[in-house]
Amino acid sequence: MPNCSNCGEFIQPNEVYKREIYMGTTNRVNYGKRVTFGNSRHYRKQTVCYSCAKLIDQQNENQGKVLKIVLLTIGILIIAFLILKK
Ligand SMILES: [Zn+2]
Repeated sequence: MPNCSNCGEFIQPNEVYKREIYMGTTNRVNYGKRVTFGNSRHYRKQTVCYSCAKLIDQQNENQGKVLKIVLLTIGILIIAFLILKK
């Protein structure tokens, strides 16, 4: 029987959800002929319960909204700048 990997709660078989959960970032430094830095973020598909799946969806949605607002603001600033320049 599955357990939620986010809160550890027992999941009903009809409430099993799969979500990508952020597992952390690994920093690698390779000392070869050149020193290179490797940075990788790890996401892993995990089994989560309904409430955690909802929470993760909400967080993803909020991140998308913030990005849209930032892009929109930059777009408006560029247009305003072009108009004022004339
Ligand atoms: Zn959970």
